[in-house]
Amino acid sequence: MPNSTTTAVNGCAAAARAVSEIEADLRTFETEERRRLGLDDGVEPWRDPDVIPFTEEQRAITTILFGGLTRMHEALLESTFQRFGYRAKALDCPDTAALQWGKEFGNRGQCNPTYFTVGNLLKYLLELRDSQGMDPADIVRNYVFVTTGACGPCRLGSYITEYRKVLRDAGFGGFRIMDVRKFGEHKRNPNVAGLKLDLPITVAGYKCILAGDVMNLLACRIRPYEAVPGAADAAIGECREILCDAFRRGKSVRRALRRCRNVLDRVEVNRLIPKPKVAIIGEFWAMTTEGDGNYHLQRFLESEGAECEIQPVSNFLLYELWEVVHDTRERMMLRRRDGRKHDMEKEFPLLTLGACRSIGFVARATFGSYARAAGLTNHSLPDMDHLAHIAREIYPLELRGGEGHLEVAKVIEAASRNKAHMVVTVKPFGCMPSSGVSDGIQSLVTARYPEVNLCAIETSGDGAVGVYSRVQMALFKARARAREEYEKALADIGIDEPEQLRQGKRHGKLRSATYYPRHKVAGTAANALYELGGK
Ligand code: SF4
Repeated sequence: MPNSTTTAVNGCAAAARAVSEIEADLRTFETEERRRLGLDDGVEPWRDPDVIPFTEEQRAITTILFGGLTRMHEALLESTFQRFGYRAKALDCPDTAALQWGKEFGNRGQCNPTYFTVGNLLKYLLELRDSQGMDPADIVRNYVFVTTGACGPCRLGSYITEYRKVLRDAGFGGFRIMDVRKFGEHKRNPNVAGLKLDLPITVAGYKCILAGDVMNLLACRIRPYEAVPGAADAAIGECREILCDAFRRGKSVRRALRRCRNVLDRVEVNRLIPKPKVAIIGEFWAMTTEGDGNYHLQRFLESEGAECEIQPVSNFLLYELWEVVHDTRERMMLRRRDGRKHDMEKEFPLLTLGACRSIGFVARATFGSYARAAGLTNHSLPDMDHLAHIAREIYPLELRGGEGHLEVAKVIEAASRNKAHMVVTVKPFGCMPSSGVSDGIQSLVTARYPEVNLCAIETSGDGAVGVYSRVQMALFKARARAREEYEKALADIGIDEPEQLRQGKRHGKLRSATYYPRHKVAGTAANALYELGGK
């Protein structure tokens, strides 16, 4: 009989043998996997080349592709590029097919706008290759995609690298994906001289953003109240042509907008229909896109009888400006232990603050003059300091990524100033900052402002039915509020029948599509009653 010591020794030896067998199996598996994946073939891991050149000489044969804004903005930007002698093409609004292409070639765990955007680009390149018979090498040589990037903190920081990797895997290795900001270096870097981002083109680009915002805001005000279905879209289409022509030929934008006002005023509207007003907020891309990326949210809400209040792109530009001002001011206050000032990131902080203030002033003034020309009344761009002030108690202003504290501030603003009957916050699937806000912080906001009718939706590209039904449930409440508000307005101005307001000369403006009453309550029809009823 073996004694207990011998048994223990034998047990240990058996365990050691088992471990070494497992390790040997693992090594064999690793070797086979490395061979299968080509990792032992001297293949270097892929590295993102910093800048693949787009030189001045290549400009004549290169088409600049871009996208990611609304159709109106993209059409105006395309015309502006053409005015400055560039070949440019705005990609179509991303759809579900684009999302599928993006998911097929993209890394796992990206946020939805990444898949939609790169999938949309890939879809276009595949169409060039498969339907138009272009050689992939020619496509790589003759096209460049211009987008925006960031240094973080969310996934936007890795978009460009991700896009390049997707295109390489899809057979378009070396395709140029370029950060628009790089083109600001065109004077000292010939590799980015293909697009000269100088003052004239930058100013023209900002004008496109402002004019596009004005037209989109007007479209959202007119479409829900049109008497003849489709009339507003037809008028907006005509306005787009007028503006594109003005931008293409470098003509006065204000004059073009005045012509647009005449076109819009031909649309017959009825402002006295009580409709729930729905503010659409959330992550920038998800709330801005007009297609499958947010399940055509604006159109869906309008088909359900709502009026949408959208966020203009200029808001985000003002927010970026606010960030620079805020951070510069904070750094100016920093002191070392010995009481001396810290080195500043920007060499002349006061100059930076002055420049930001001037840019903000010019942007607001230009927006205001465009709005007046086109007939966008009773609308102003938000005061970013005010939004920061109301959000700071709930959301730290230093937390960036996505819309930062703006999403929180807009909900508080909608609730405290009775600006909308309902707020839809749109969060793309996989979005880090927006998930934190809409899944976490907004519950604190709704606890403090129980009157807010908030509906947070996640856009994953599928599950549209679930999203629509959640929106419809919140809309039910919003509709009831709009109706109540309207009836109260009728009682307050002392009439039973709103049609009475249509009689008499002073109410002729009710017929104008660009007429929009001052804000008193959330609903447009109730506001019109108060204004025309003299209250
Ligand atoms: S804010 Fe969200 S969706 Fe947008 S880039 Fe960042 S992580 Fe993606």
